[in-house]
Amino acid sequence: MSTKYILAAGSLVFAALPAWAGPAEDALIDKVVQAYGGEAVSSARSLIIRNHNKIIPFGQSAGPDVLDISDGRTELVIDLENRRKSFSSWNKNRAGTFLTQTVFADDAAYTLDHVNKTRAANQNAVFDAIGGGTVRSVDLTLVYVLLDNRDQAQAAGSSVIKGTPHSALTFPMEGSPDLTIHINDQTGLITRMTRENAQFGTLSYNFSDHVSDGGVMYATQANFQIAGQANTLSVFREIAVNTATDAMFPDGDGYREAGAQIDRSEMTVRDLGQGIFYVGQNIGFSIFVDAGDHYVASGGYAALTQRFEALQEHTGTEKPLRYQIVTHHHSDHVGGMGEAVALNASLITVAEHVAPIQASLESPLADDRFMLVDGRATLAGGKIEVFDIGTAHSNHYLLVYLPELNLVFSADHFSTALEEGLPPANKNMTTFRTAVEALNLDIDGFLGAHGPRMLTMSDLRRATDGYREVVCPNNAAICSN
Ligand SMILES: [Zn+2]
Repeated sequence: MSTKYILAAGSLVFAALPAWAGPAEDALIDKVVQAYGGEAVSSARSLIIRNHNKIIPFGQSAGPDVLDISDGRTELVIDLENRRKSFSSWNKNRAGTFLTQTVFADDAAYTLDHVNKTRAANQNAVFDAIGGGTVRSVDLTLVYVLLDNRDQAQAAGSSVIKGTPHSALTFPMEGSPDLTIHINDQTGLITRMTRENAQFGTLSYNFSDHVSDGGVMYATQANFQIAGQANTLSVFREIAVNTATDAMFPDGDGYREAGAQIDRSEMTVRDLGQGIFYVGQNIGFSIFVDAGDHYVASGGYAALTQRFEALQEHTGTEKPLRYQIVTHHHSDHVGGMGEAVALNASLITVAEHVAPIQASLESPLADDRFMLVDGRATLAGGKIEVFDIGTAHSNHYLLVYLPELNLVFSADHFSTALEEGLPPANKNMTTFRTAVEALNLDIDGFLGAHGPRMLTMSDLRRATDGYREVVCPNNAAICSN
């Protein structure tokens, strides 16, 4: 350690160099390891972490006034000896039930969808990032991240949490902003971990009800908060040491390859005819309709301005964006509303979604910049029809229909980036189908806000025919723990 301490002195002169753990950090790290089981921690061969959580969505409920709290069960298996990981997730939410498993073995990762029996390779996956959310939400696994990065740990001051003195340590985690753990000075146990998120602010992970089990300590209760708002709450947690088996790392034999995805990394402008354009990249696409002396758009992801500029460059015109149809109130789909307002567009929405849209803007928008749809509306001289439908995803959802092309533009219900095949069905999609069929429209195609492949009405029917919500695939233990 003495060499490292000399380097630490050097780093005071060259401030750009990383600081290195010195005696103060080493003493604190040793205290933490001791508190969590000492030898039992450092000699453990594997960990199995089982969680049952309640998840409180952030701007993603079916309506803005009632939170749709979902149920999540996870199992993270860490093979410390062979550097393997398996992260399984059983999720029950308004869209249905989902059971997926991501396995990291031999420096490669893949995800198995146990409901649809598909296997997809995860490109560029790193070991730390597999089940990373769970690793950060479990105090014992934070001790392992700390040990992996102990040379870079830095003391980060002291604080008093609920009347008890704590000392803090900051250290890196691959694929994440740095982590700061707050250690109880008396017990050496971790009470809290914090990290900073550029978009959302401080993320905090709070630990309590520590137990000793199998020679190690861990908190049986954890809660995760985003800028002080509760997001994930523990119902139940247990950790088993040295009981992992090879069978916990299945290779997905017999599963169908999920197939390649369309490359969406470049901004593209698709001229669909009749003055209608589909523009976007990555997971943000918009539809623009030329209404003569202005454009009407839908698809409200952030970077709306870049999409509109790409359209103007493509068409060589400078017509303004006068109206933006807001598909629904979810935080990601109103991410570009500040840009729409800056482009001087008025917002077309339903009365129920004015408040969440206003909340997404930096300053309140005048009432006369909102056009409210009551049931249905016709825009741009009949080039656009808008219908307020209700689905599992959103109680009020504005469906955009372009009669000249028999085309529907929608968000979060029916789209895919797969080069071939259909997206797996869920309750969003099946309730969307029911609502769309009830409109009795002549529909040839569907394009989505997440892009980019054109799908058809018969695709929607084929994808959703026979859909049933799965109770618990393969009788997996994770569904019932
Ligand atoms: Zn949504």
